[in-house]
Amino acid sequence: MGRRFCVRCGREESKDTPIIDGLCPECFVKERVILKLPSKIKVTVCPVCGATYLHGRWEHLGEDIKDIVRWYVLSTLVKRSTVYPGVEVVDVKVKELSSGMVTMLVKGRYGSASLVQELSTHLEVDKRLCPNCLKSRGGGYEAILQIRTLAPTRFNVMRAVGERLARVKTFRESIVEIKEGREGVDIKMNSQTACRYVANLLKKEYAAKLIQTWENTGQLGNKRKCKLVISARLPGLVAGDIVEYEGEPAQVIKLKYGRVVIKSLSTGKVRSLTHDEIWRGRIKYLSSKDYAILDGRVLNYEGGRAVVQSVDTGNVYFIRAPRLYSLGSRVKILIYKGKAYLLL
Ligand SMILES: [Zn+2]
Ligand SMILES: [Zn+2]
Repeated sequence: MGRRFCVRCGREESKDTPIIDGLCPECFVKERVILKLPSKIKVTVCPVCGATYLHGRWEHLGEDIKDIVRWYVLSTLVKRSTVYPGVEVVDVKVKELSSGMVTMLVKGRYGSASLVQELSTHLEVDKRLCPNCLKSRGGGYEAILQIRTLAPTRFNVMRAVGERLARVKTFRESIVEIKEGREGVDIKMNSQTACRYVANLLKKEYAAKLIQTWENTGQLGNKRKCKLVISARLPGLVAGDIVEYEGEPAQVIKLKYGRVVIKSLSTGKVRSLTHDEIWRGRIKYLSSKDYAILDGRVLNYEGGRAVVQSVDTGNVYFIRAPRLYSLGSRVKILIYKGKAYLLL
């Protein structure tokens, strides 16, 4: 029998290094896909008891959404038509969930060789009450909690908030429906008291701005029926975000129990903003369309300002520098409304 070699790296076939379609295992996982995933995985989970809807039935597959996705993939997506011929998929581990994407480590076997491949696809988690939970709720709702963010809605931020709320028993017990959309999350609840309670929790812990309104749902006998609607707007910021505060750009350092800690890019001063300070209409989220970031090098100091040259354009900026950099240091320049700042 002739010796076989990997066409990509030249490695010779051996017992532990089978040649699969002309490739050694290492090159194989770089060139081919072990498991063909759909462009989107959609799982339906009951927000109250955690049951998952799978193959026409509601089942308890685990507490963590990572476990649920793992089971879903193993039981639904691993089949003859999706797995590379000759490869056996032995396990799937969810490595990361972020911004509606799931990244998995797919483990496979080909003969005696093990294969590991990182694969990603979109993930949509649909939250719907399972029939058991729906029955115990009666289906009707008395209040709607609308969760929105100042910054664009981000999956991680929303998930963290969702996990916090899920720890509140009165909240769990009053959910009738959860709708997640691009603009935020709407939660229908069968108790106005519970709705007010969690809205206040969002205010205290996440600095949410609350607006309460009533939705008139018509007449019931000669009594008017109204449903409570509370819109809870969270800053929804994460460390590293750029915001405008009192007219100047600042960088978000961290979120701290109901506060947003920012560092001014013009003075370098750190401020921990309270709920009132955040919402007095002075904070604005800036997207990457609002500013530009350039790579720069500190050339000199003149009159208390750093002389910084852009590496890309060669332009020179005189920037008020809150701290001293040694000459030649690489820095990031942020250009906002025609003014240059150093990113700290
Ligand atoms: Zn190879
Ligand atoms: Zn349920």
